[in-house]
This record gives sequence, structure tokens and C-alpha cells, in this order.
Amino acid sequence: MKNTKTYLLLIAIVVFIACNPKTTEQLLTKEEPIPEEVVPESVVPVIKELPSLKEKDILLVHGGWQGHKPKEYTEKIAVFLREARATVTISPSTAVYEDSTFLSSFDLIIQSVTMDKVSNAAMKGLLTAIKTGKTGFAGCHGGTGDAFRENTAYQYMVGGQFVGHPGGHVDYTVKITNPNDAITEGLTGFNINSEQYYMHVDPNIKVLATTEFTGEHDEWIAGATMPVVWKKYFGEGRVFYFSVGHDPILFDEIKDAKTILMRGFQWASGSKYEEKEDWISPMYPASVVEK
Ligand SMILES: [Zn+2]
Repeated sequence: MKNTKTYLLLIAIVVFIACNPKTTEQLLTKEEPIPEEVVPESVVPVIKELPSLKEKDILLVHGGWQGHKPKEYTEKIAVFLREARATVTISPSTAVYEDSTFLSSFDLIIQSVTMDKVSNAAMKGLLTAIKTGKTGFAGCHGGTGDAFRENTAYQYMVGGQFVGHPGGHVDYTVKITNPNDAITEGLTGFNINSEQYYMHVDPNIKVLATTEFTGEHDEWIAGATMPVVWKKYFGEGRVFYFSVGHDPILFDEIKDAKTILMRGFQWASGSKYEEKEDWISPMYPASVVEK
């Protein structure tokens, strides 16, 4: 009798479950399509505001080949930075790099030392300060992109090395290739008559502006696109580079060149205050389609 009751109860439960479609529905979760007007927000890039130079401590180091007027460039940059309310310290020697703790007291190091040589102790101190995010590093043209030619550790930090400027002084165009970065936002590029740097570059730099070679002087590089402005990290430290700047007067003559330079300094001065940005995006795609 007890078994019959249990049997009937089980049948009743099975029938109840079978007849109650809500049980099945309750297991499902239904998700409505995302309304069309919401979608664009997720793809519109958020441009992060640049750190201010106000009250920043900046070390300017000059030296090396005098053809790039390193002292004149440094003095000009010092005025720009002081106008932006930064405090500047100027050193005519890379010996200042030997004390990593001293370098860590600055927010940014700006270097104009073309070619020249650097001691192992100085390079060790510089790379340690940047790698640990205690300071940033920035500069332009040969003073930063053609310094210490034999020092590959330095080139690894900067993200590129000058190897030529076909034709010497030529007319060329700097094109903004990434307008979704605070350094290049709102700029359209510019034309310039100066040295068009051909560089060996790190594929993990974030390229913001480029130039194209015509091939007029070296026909085999016709159509080659070369980074002109980039930012990158070396460990936790921010590094900014701009290949324009053979003559410091260019930053008075070309307004957008000065804007890019100063915005780059702003970005690189944020190493110890700003969150690390996550944008490693190699310029080479994972697969290559042959032409
Ligand atoms: Zn030059």
C-alpha cells in the first residue's frame, strides 16, 4: 500500500513537470539585442587626458655632435617647459645618469646627445630609473634617436635608431596616422623641409605619425612608410620619440611640431603618476597577405 502511494506520487510529480512548461523556461535566460544607439559608444575610443607639466621636475641633458645645436635646443625646450610651469635642471654631461636615485627625483629626462659615447655606469643608472617607472624619457631627432650608436640596450629602450636620411634636406609630409591619442588628437599633420629620418624601429612602439619616402634618392625605398612619432614603455617607464628636429628653430616655425613635442613630454612625464596604458599593438599583423 505504501509502495503504491509512493508510485502514484512519483507519477503525479512527473505529470506535473511535463505539463508545466514554465520549469523549462525558467532554466533559460533570454538576452535582448543591444539597442543600436548603445553600440557606437563601445567603439568610440576614449582619449585619455595628458598629464600636466605644471610642478613637474624635468632634467635636460645635452651634448654630443654639435651639428644638432644641442645647447640651443635644450635652452629653447627649457623655456617651453618653464612656460608650462615645470621646473627644469640642465646637465651638459651624461655622467649625471650614473646616479639612478638622483634621476628618480625627476619626472622626465629629455636628452639631446647625438652620437657620442656613454659609460656603462651611466647607461645602467638611466635604464634602471626608466625601467622601474621612476621617471620617463623623451626627445627628438638625433639627440635621442641617434645617440650612443654602439649601445643596443639604449636603442632597446628608445624603440628605434636612425640609419639614414636619403637626400639630406628634403620636402616631406608628416601624416597623423593615429588621431585617437591625446598626443595627436585634433592635428592633421604638416609639411616640412628637413632631414627625413629613415629608422630601424621596434615593432612594439605605438606609432602616432608617419612619413612616406618617394624613392627619389634611394629608389628601392619608394613608398616605404616610416614612423615619425611614437610612444612606448620600457618596463614601467614612459618613452616618447619624435624624429623631427634637425634644427631647433623648427619648433618655432611649425606650430603642430611644437604641439606634438610638448604633448609627448606631457605624456612621458606621467610614468610615476598614471596607470600603465594597455595598447601593445605590433605594427605587423599576425598573418601577412602577399601582394
Ligand atoms: Zn640632423
